[in-house]
Order: sequence, then structure tokens, then C-alpha cells
Amino acid sequence: MKARKVTVVGSGIIGLTSAIALQEAGFDVRLFAKEKFDYTLSHKVGAVWFPYTIEPRKKVDRWAAVSYARYEKESEYAAGVSMISFLNAYKDLKDEEWVHQLPAGTVREATWDELPKGMKKGLIADVPLTEPPLYLPYLFEKFLNLGGTFELKTFNSLEEIASQDTLVVNCTGLGAKSLCKDEDLHPMRGQILRAEKLDIPSFADPTQKGALSYIIGRSGDSIIGGTDYDYDWNESEDRRDTELILERLKNFGIKNQPEILEIVVGLRPKRSTVRFEFDADFQNVFHNYGHGGAGFTVAWGCAMEVAETLSKNSL
Ligand SMILES: Cc1cc2nc3c(=O)[nH]c(=O)nc-3n(C[C@H](O)[C@H](O)[C@H](O)COP(=O)(O)OP(=O)(O)OC[C@H]3O[C@@H](n4cnc5c(N)ncnc54)[C@H](O)[C@@H]3O)c2cc1C
Repeated sequence: MKARKVTVVGSGIIGLTSAIALQEAGFDVRLFAKEKFDYTLSHKVGAVWFPYTIEPRKKVDRWAAVSYARYEKESEYAAGVSMISFLNAYKDLKDEEWVHQLPAGTVREATWDELPKGMKKGLIADVPLTEPPLYLPYLFEKFLNLGGTFELKTFNSLEEIASQDTLVVNCTGLGAKSLCKDEDLHPMRGQILRAEKLDIPSFADPTQKGALSYIIGRSGDSIIGGTDYDYDWNESEDRRDTELILERLKNFGIKNQPEILEIVVGLRPKRSTVRFEFDADFQNVFHNYGHGGAGFTVAWGCAMEVAETLSKNSL
């Protein structure tokens, strides 16, 4: 029997994982995007497994757990995926829901001598780290090897997307705002510094709104964060943000300023909840966008559920 065709729009982490999950479920997939993967938001970021600023909670927990398992397996053979020890700071240790998505025995309370200077409490967990400059090319190559095709194409409306003669998965991230006239979807601006590799364990301190501080140690560099400003469309560097981020480093006991290799600004596609549904008016279009600060964290969970949902659809 001939494989059913599906079109995926968007070549960031959400589009690439959706495309591959659909291929693995037996679909013949073509991918369209305004930009190739190396020009997307997804290519610019960390990216560590952590369900940050994303809803709805129950679905996110499920998607994050599925993604965790996929990355853990991939860390044995895929480019740009590894498991790291990641410390999260807290003002008080409450029942942190994300912890329940981790396999047993992979999380524990940090001892005081493991906490960077200035932190009072923390949880240390083994989590997946994906390095987008290595992982996205790996995914793209895998997609092509599984028989997928890619074409650069900009869509100007949802009608145009729906005019494809196949089921379509809309993975256009923040681009969906104008395409779908989606008032809920908005940017949450993040500025981060890509620096020389620092000799400090990876950690995040999300306890202050607007000042998401973190360091992620990658194979050849470190990502130092960052900011999280809602409704801020500025895609250029803000010098004040750079200074704030560097100032915070001192609070964590890093006295000498590291060599900064690049200043990166990205707009998280934030929504009150991820849009994960068939369109009410265009019934061949399934939306998978609005993953906020956790697109990598939930990508495989969403992708596998997309494949399952489309497999059941008779269109
Ligand atoms: C500073 C920062 C740090 C982050 N760190 C992490 C982290 O550590 N862990 C984590 O899980 N998440 C992190 N995130 C969040 C993560 O980057 C996003 O959730 C994720 O990249 C969104 O992926 P996406 O595929 O939906 O969007 P994108 O990567 O933006 O891809 C969208 C795709 O759609 C295409 N497109 C858009 N409009 C159109 C159109 N009209 N026609 C055709 N194609 C179109 C684009 O060309 C692109 O290919 C971070 C974000 C920021 C800003």
C-alpha cells in the first residue's frame, strides 16, 4: 500500500521532530519552511530539558516524559544529545511537579557545598542536553534519509497552508501569530551569551521573574542566560541586558568575565497553552505551536502524539 502523504510546515525543533515521528509511523512527509533549520530560533538556544513557561501542565508533563525517554536513548548514538547533571535553584523546596516526570533515582537535593554562591536551595537532576548546532543537522539528515523532501517556502495565510492536498502539521512557532491571527501567541524575549567553556556545573536560577539566570556547559562552549521579557519583540542585543547577565555571574562567584563568543537574542513562542489541535475551519490542518520556553523539552512527546493522532484520521 502507498504511504499516506503529510505536509509539515516549519523546520525548527517542533517541525523536524514531527516530520520524523510521522515518517516513523509510516507517512510520506514533505517539509516546507520559510527558513532552513540553521536560521530558526531553535538553532540559537541551549537547550536543556526543563519544562519552563509552558502549559497546559498535565499534557506538558506527559510530553516532557516521552521526550526525556527519547533523548536518553538518543544520547547513546545521536549527534548533539547527552545526559547532564543540572542544578535548579529554589527559594523554598516545595513539591516540584516536573520532578515527577524524571525516572526514579535521577533527582536529589543539592548539598550546600554543591550550590553556586548566592543560592540557598537546589535540586540536582540528570537531564537531557541537546546542542542544536549538532542535533538539528542530525535530525534533518535523518529526515532526508527516511525519504523526506524539503523546500524553502513562505506561507502568507492559513488558507494557503490548508490548500495543500494532504494533511498539514503547522509547526511555525511565532510565525503562527500572523498566519493564524492568534492573539494569544506572543514573544517572550530571551537574550543569552555564548561564551568560552566555563568550568562550572550547569545550573538555572529561575527564582526572579525577568532574570532567568543559567549556565549550560556544552561540548565546546557555555550558554549564559538570560532574560525572559513578555511581549518584547526586540530581536537586537540590548547592552543593558548583557551587562545585567554579566553582573549576575559575579553573584554566582565567577569573578573573571569569560570570553563572549556571541550575543544571541531569541523570541520564545509563548501562549497560555500550546496549540495542539485540528483547526476548526480547515480540517486538514493540525496545529503544533506555542511551546514557549520549552520546545526542546516537549518536542518528541508532541511529535509522537501528532503521528498517533494523524494515523487515526481518515482524511
Ligand atoms: C533564549 C532562549 C533559550 C531557550 N532555551 C531552551 C531550553 O534550554 N530548552 C528548551 O526546551 N527550550 C528552550 N527555549 C525555547 C525553544 O527555543 C522554543 O520553544 C523552540 O525553539 C520553538 O521551536 P519551533 O520549532 O516551534 O519554532 P522555530 O524554531 O522558530 O521554527 C519555526 C519554523 O517555522 C517556519 N515558519 C514561520 N513562519 C512561516 C511561514 N509563514 N511560512 C513558512 N514557514 C514559516 C520558520 O522558518 C521555522 O522553520 C529557549 C528559547 C529562548 C529564546
